[in-house]
Formats: sequence, structure tokens, C-alpha cells
Amino acid sequence: MRTVDAALLRDALRGVRGLLLDLDGVIVSAGKAVPGSVEAMNELERRGTAYRIVTNTSLISRRSLSELAASLGNRIPPERFQSALSASADYAARAYAGQPLYVLSSADAKREFDGQWLLTHDEAAAPGARAAAVIVGDSPDELTNRNLNLAFRLVRGGARLIGMHRNPWWLTADGPTLDSGAYVTGLEYAAGVRAQIIGKPAPAFFSIAVDALRREATARGDRLRRSEIAMVGDDVRTDVLAGQRAGLCGVLVLTGKHGLDAVAASHGHGRGGREPHAVAPSLADVVAALD
Ligand SMILES: [Mg+2]
Repeated sequence: MRTVDAALLRDALRGVRGLLLDLDGVIVSAGKAVPGSVEAMNELERRGTAYRIVTNTSLISRRSLSELAASLGNRIPPERFQSALSASADYAARAYAGQPLYVLSSADAKREFDGQWLLTHDEAAAPGARAAAVIVGDSPDELTNRNLNLAFRLVRGGARLIGMHRNPWWLTADGPTLDSGAYVTGLEYAAGVRAQIIGKPAPAFFSIAVDALRREATARGDRLRRSEIAMVGDDVRTDVLAGQRAGLCGVLVLTGKHGLDAVAASHGHGRGGREPHAVAPSLADVVAALD
């Protein structure tokens, strides 16, 4: 098993020129900036390193994520974020153009679905209501028993069930908190269907971000290979091993929910018994170890 070692980290990151960064547990945690993350992000800007924040956050829009980051000292423009929410809205716009959707998410999150046909709760409750897809994200106010029942009935009526992600819980200032993946799994169980998951660890989610970095590189007359992009996250399975399956360099940071014990637990149990390419104490250590 890898241990935290600066030389090993530098070795693993040799040649890395692009970064996909998880948000929660890497840059922010429980509503606060992770120590050293502000300076690390400033250094990435100074170096001109291509990066995207790839996050399963589904609670708020990219604009609000950018504002949240700014309030904690990190200047990250909205277009640098790719969230499970924004990717779900993009996917629905392509797959269900002009068709009715029932989206369970906050009012702010629904801004990402601008221009799409979203059913109100009352429309979803009307007799004979139909939707092309039911899309479930995190929202303490929207994930009510009534709304989940409406979602359940629409799925039974033929709507595709889409989970923005399948995260069971996350860490808030109140402590471990139920996330929308728990509700997606409940709807699957009740309706006897399998949800389509848009966010991490879906390979397509990583590909969208990789393509964005590659387009930037191409515009500079450069070429970026997948192996030159590192996925940095605090979740061994959904960030690191999933990133590695997508052909990226996988780096676990220890400022979030998973520690070295999770690496040991994943080793031999993950697909192919893989382990992270590297483990770093924090994002600051990752940025310091870049060529
Ligand atoms: Mg995380």
C-alpha cells in the first residue's frame, strides 16, 4: 500500500499538466476552506495549469458554487466547475429536448435547467401526468415524502429515473448528512428500476471534463493526454479509482472523508484490486509536487 511520501508523490505526478479537482474534502470541507487550498489554487492560476473542479455537488448552481468559493477566498469562475447537477442538465437538454422533466432539486439548482420544460409539483401530481425523465438531486426542501411519491409514480408510468449522483451522505457543518443518492436508491428499490447516474464515478462524467481540458490545450497548440491529467479527490472509489479507470492519474488527499484505512480497504476489493497512484496530505502538497 502507498504511504504518504513526498518523493513517491512527485514520481506519480511526473508529466501531469492538467488537474481535475474534487471540491468537497479537497478545496472546501464542512463550509470552510481546506487549509492551504486558497494558496494552492492561486498557484495553479499563476502557473496557468489547466484545471476543472469536478464535483458531485447537486445542491446549488455553478454560479453559486463560484460565489461560495469566493466567500472562502478562492476565485474560481463558474465555467471552471463541472457538477453532477450541470452535467445532468446538459444531458437532459440533449436526451430529452422539448420533453417534460420532473426535477427534484433546489430552486437555485434549477437555474442550470434554464430553457427546459420542468413540471411543477402540481403538474406532476395531476391525473395522468407523464414525464420523460425524473431527475433527482440533493435538496433538503424538495426531497419530501409527497414529491418522492410523485417521482415514484412518474417512474412507474414510464419516466426514466436519473440520479445526478449516488452519494449516500456527505459531511456538513451539522455532521454526516443524508445525500440524494439514498433517495435515488430508495426509488430504484420501490419502482424496480435501475437509475442512470450522471456524476462520478460514471466514465462519461470524467470524459466531459477531459474533453474540456483538451480543447483548452488544443487552442494553445498543445496536446494533452489522459495520463497527463490527474484526478485529485478525497473519495477512494468515486474520485480516485474511477478516475484511474478513465485513464487518469489518481491522487487521494487526506483532508476529507477517506484516510489511509480506506486505501487499505479498497486494495484487493476494488476492480482489479487497484490502489491510488499516489496519496497526498492535501491539495497544497499535490500542487507543490507538480513539475
Ligand atoms: Mg469529495
